[in-house]
Amino acid sequence: MKRALQYSASAGIPELLSWLKDFQLNLHDPPTAKYSPEQGQMEVCVTTGSQEGLCKVFEMLINPGDNILLDAPTYSGTLAALRPLGCNIINIPSDQHGIIPKALKEILSAWSPKDVKNCSNNLPKFLYTIPNGCNPTGNSLTTERKKEIYQLARKYDFLIIEDDPYYFLQFEKPWAPTFLSMDVDGRVIRTDSFSKILSSGLRIGFLTGPKPLIDRVVLHIQVSTMHTSTFTQIMISQLLQQWGQKGFLEHVDRVVDFYRIQRDAMLTAADKWLKDLAEWYPPAAGMFLWIKIKGISDTQQLIMEKALKKEVLLVPGGAFNIDSSEPSSYVRASFSLPSPAQMDLAFKRLADLIKESL
Ligand code: PLP
Repeated sequence: MKRALQYSASAGIPELLSWLKDFQLNLHDPPTAKYSPEQGQMEVCVTTGSQEGLCKVFEMLINPGDNILLDAPTYSGTLAALRPLGCNIINIPSDQHGIIPKALKEILSAWSPKDVKNCSNNLPKFLYTIPNGCNPTGNSLTTERKKEIYQLARKYDFLIIEDDPYYFLQFEKPWAPTFLSMDVDGRVIRTDSFSKILSSGLRIGFLTGPKPLIDRVVLHIQVSTMHTSTFTQIMISQLLQQWGQKGFLEHVDRVVDFYRIQRDAMLTAADKWLKDLAEWYPPAAGMFLWIKIKGISDTQQLIMEKALKKEVLLVPGGAFNIDSSEPSSYVRASFSLPSPAQMDLAFKRLADLIKESL
């Protein structure tokens, strides 16, 4: 308790940091683990949720006018963090298996090898993506696509920001290899989160990436939050020490079992009520079902006015577009909190509302 109530190091308390480093090494075996600091050796720091890590990485990397790449629709918290930084967001087409490498290649062909050599012509600085159970689409990138995307990152010399809070919520094993595990150059910054597997309110996550970049983020932490709550870190650290890596992964298995049941209950309710009115793909990870409503070009009014009045809480798809005022025929449903009975009732009410609106 004495330590928990005191200030601590900005990168994180030592025992938690060393647990996390060991864990990342065992889980992802990144090539950068063996590099020197200058070569981009793997480094880790604790953050106040992965959102803090993302926000600080964006602030570190972006100058106004920079080009960056992402696959929208994407997490609204990322878009909100990017907007004030004045970057030019280039949208890459995706499908249920995530970013389409061919489409990325086509976009990148606007730049020449000469631009890459001279770092000129406003080459995209980084690619941001949510590789598993994307919020909001539920999409997951395949291993093949990740490999192709990594090769394009090498060719056009951009960083990859791998925002992966749903990594531990993959429903099928073996889990997909991460960009971090492929990172021979030290060009991947990965954000992990305990929000979806332990507690979102404790506010704890961690960044993994090349040491020179993680060190810069730690300098920013030093002058903003100073560090993630020592109390929270000690609590998490003691739990992890007690569990060990094996015990932690067994806990994750139990969480995944819970989410699998929740996902299947939501798919059953969707099949029952929305079959002729909407389309969706069963998500392979995460906590979201991304539903395209047939015959409705913008779901904003349907969801924010009519559904809300009927106590059905969904998010209209527009919230996840680069330009949030752009119409969207999608809605995002979350299967983290509702019981199967509530999901059934909610989709029945939604089906009635859709029929009224057509
Ligand atoms: N990234 C994505 C894709 C998310 O969906 C979320 C939260 O929903 C976050 C980051 C932020 O999570 P945290 O609670 O770790 O800050």
